[in-house]
Formats: sequence, C-alpha cells, structure tokens
Amino acid sequence: MYFTQLKISDPILKAITDLDYVDPTPIQVQAIPPLLEGFDLLGTAQTGTGKTAAYAIPLLQKIITNRSSFQAPTLTSLIVAPTRELAAQIGTSIKQYGKYAKVKVSVIFGGVPKGPQIHNLRSGIDILVATPGRLLDLADAKLVDLSRVNYFVLDEADQMLDMGFLPDIRRIISKLPHDRQTMLFSATMPKEILSLAGSLLNHPVRISIGSVQRPLAAISQSLYRVEKENKAALLMHLLKDKTILSALVFCRTKNGANRLSKKLLEQPYNTEVIHGNKSQNARTAALKSFKAHESRVMIATDIAARGLDISQISHVFNYDMPQTPETYLHRMGRTGRAGEAGITISFCSRDELSLLKDVQKHIRMEIPVLNCPLAFPPKEAVAQEPEVTRQNNPFNKNLEKKQPRVDNKSLSPRREPFSSKNHGASTANKASEASHQIFGERQKYRGYKKTKTSK
Ligand code: AMP
Repeated sequence: MYFTQLKISDPILKAITDLDYVDPTPIQVQAIPPLLEGFDLLGTAQTGTGKTAAYAIPLLQKIITNRSSFQAPTLTSLIVAPTRELAAQIGTSIKQYGKYAKVKVSVIFGGVPKGPQIHNLRSGIDILVATPGRLLDLADAKLVDLSRVNYFVLDEADQMLDMGFLPDIRRIISKLPHDRQTMLFSATMPKEILSLAGSLLNHPVRISIGSVQRPLAAISQSLYRVEKENKAALLMHLLKDKTILSALVFCRTKNGANRLSKKLLEQPYNTEVIHGNKSQNARTAALKSFKAHESRVMIATDIAARGLDISQISHVFNYDMPQTPETYLHRMGRTGRAGEAGITISFCSRDELSLLKDVQKHIRMEIPVLNCPLAFPPKEAVAQEPEVTRQNNPFNKNLEKKQPRVDNKSLSPRREPFSSKNHGASTANKASEASHQIFGERQKYRGYKKTKTSK
C-alpha cells in the first residue's frame, strides 16, 4: 500500500515524501483510516514502528481540513508524553510532517525556563506536545487553555504508569472537553492501563502491532557472562571494534552511569551521559551530540529506554541487566529502528541471573552466550592477583576446564547456572561479525527506500 491510497492531503504527502517515506508502516496502514474517520484508538505497538506518524498525520489532516486559513491558531490537539526527550522528538516529527501545512506546534516540558514556552503559547498554537508536570503547572496558572482540545493523544502510557504519572494524567483529562477523539498508545497493557483506557476511550478501534513479548526479529541478541567488576574492561575492549559505530549503553543507576562515564573519559572517542540528575540543557546537548554521531557512545539510565528515535544506533549494551523484562525490549528497541537491523549485547553478572531468567521467560527464548573475549584481568584485579598466564586467566572458560581455578571462586564456570549453549566459538568478536551483517542489511534497506522513491 502507498500513502497516496490513504487519502492524505497534499501538503502532508509532500512532507513525508521529503522524508523518503514511501510505504506506510503496518501501524500507519491500520491506524490512519479509522483515525481520519474519527474513531478513538487503543494501540499496542513496539517502539520504532512509525507510531508517531500514525497519529500525527490524521491529526494534521484534521486541522488542515477544519481550520480556514484566515483563522488564528487554536489549541485543538494535545499530545502528552512521559519524558522531555520524547516530547521534544514528537514535536520535531510533527513539525516535519506539517511543514507545508501552516500548523503551529509547540513543545513544553520541565527542567527549562517557562518564559519562552509561555511566550510560544501566547503567540497561538494548534498542537501542543507536553510532559505531564509542566502541562499541569501552566494549565493551573491559566497559561494554557485546554478547553478546546478535541484531539488527545496519550503516548507511552505504560511508562507514564511506571513513572507515577497516572494521577497527573487523570487531572489533565479532567480539564479536557468530553467531546473529543482520544488515542492511547502503550507498549504493554498492564491492567491499570486497560482500566484507564476503559474510562478514557469511547468504543476504540484496537490495534496491536507485533507482539510486545517478542523482540524485533531484525535485532540480534547476545550475552556475556561477566562479573560486575569486569564489566567496564569488557565494554572498553568491545568498543575497540570500529564497526560499533554508535553504542547506547544502559546502566541501572545514575551513579553507575556517572562512574562508567569517568572510566570511558580517557578513551579516544566521545562519550555522553544522560540521566535524570543531569540538567535539561546537559541532557539535550548529550542527545544532540549522540544523534549527530559526534559522540560514539551514550551512557544512559532507563530514562532513554523508551520512545527515543535515534537513527543508526548500531549497538545497544545492557551494561546492567534491566530490572523488568519489559525494559529489556524497550532498551533493545533503540536499535533496529524503522526496519533497520541492530545488535543488543547484555552483560550479566552472577547477581543478575534472576533478571536474565525473567527476561528470557518474557521473550520466550534463550539469549545466545558469547565467549568473553578479555585476555586480561580488570585493572583493579592486577594489583591483587598473580601475573595472568594462559593457565590462570579467569576469563578463559575453555582453559578453565583443564586447570583448577586459581583464587577467584566467583568466576568459576562450574558453578555457573547459565545455559551451556555457547555461540561465540571465536573470540575474534561475534559483535564485529554481526556488525558487518547489520550494515550490509542497512545498505539493502536504504537501497530499497531509494528504488521505491525513484519509481
Ligand atoms: P516512531 O515509531 O514514530 O518513533 O518512528 C520510528 C522511525 O521510523 C522514525 O525515524 C520515523 O522517521 C521512521 N518512519 C516512520 N514512518 C515511516 C515510513 N512510513 N517509512 C519510513 N520510515 C518511517
């Protein structure tokens, strides 16, 4: 199916053609027609499926159709997203889709001064993208008028729930007119979200794209068994591989992310860090530099696990295993965007085994285990341990079988309850092989887009 068959008006078609979109993605095929007809929608969609355009295109089309060109902009469309970065990204996409439609879009979120946002709101807007806290602040101060919103999108609803935003969301909803079209998107549908959907949506069309239990097929997954204290050395070793063009590294805590970034400071590539304790300006600058590929590595907490669309992230590293299995899928969804391939590599230490078990149960597959390629001990260990020889190298699992372990019981493979499946026969870096594969695939994908466009 082509976009032209979806009855989309010319200014929007022209804008998406500029973006090289040819075929609508499955969620766009399913969502655009009912949304244009005015139905509410409940969407379960994996990240990177083209969800933003699926709701933004009908929204823009309605504004173009219903507003005469003489009429001043009126806030009729509200999109609420859980994180500042996601709100900014949605705003950018909508501006791109609406660039020939003379529609005014504004984005508001916390952590930055209110002044410029208030100025924008006062100058008149059609579409507002907001995070819940700042939206309520400005609405309570009567600086934003929600009384004419007739198109409301709640994006990444399950993340709102995880971040404790549901009471805020209910307050926002209480400020909206009853007569409106509502869309709720969520990567998963826990019962709290289903109950919110029940109270919010009116006979919605239900769309589910792909299984949220399953990782995208285009993303290759693998795992290193590595003790906590060796993770930084392993990461630095893997990053020597030049085919890792762009790596997003997930840490569990803000402190952990800071500690790791200090370790990477001396490396010959730029590293960014993004987490909730960073100022909004620092977060925006980090993301900008990583998106522009000026920095090769971005270390992040799960603040960056969802929604963010950064093209060409070749590798996602789970430096710390995610606390919930769903987060595993969200993190890996940062690579393999829009049909491209990607690689996810997890580092699992002994105390994270139960988390790994949960992930594998959730995705209903075993993640292939690679041989740890380190031929050296971590820095801290050098001071305490005797010189590492082929015999006592704690990273060499194969030799380990022949030689009794020297002194580091915690690394003993015999006590490892992991799967015995080992797909990493060569330590010459499976990640590298996979990278070659990916970028071959990516070329194909690009070629595909181009051929289609030139038709
Ligand atoms: P989203 O899931 O909305 O974050 O979109 C993921 C990525 O897919 C973004 O980079 C979009 O620009 C891209 N995208 C969305 N729709 C299409 C399409 N129909 N064709 C090609 N790329 C698309």
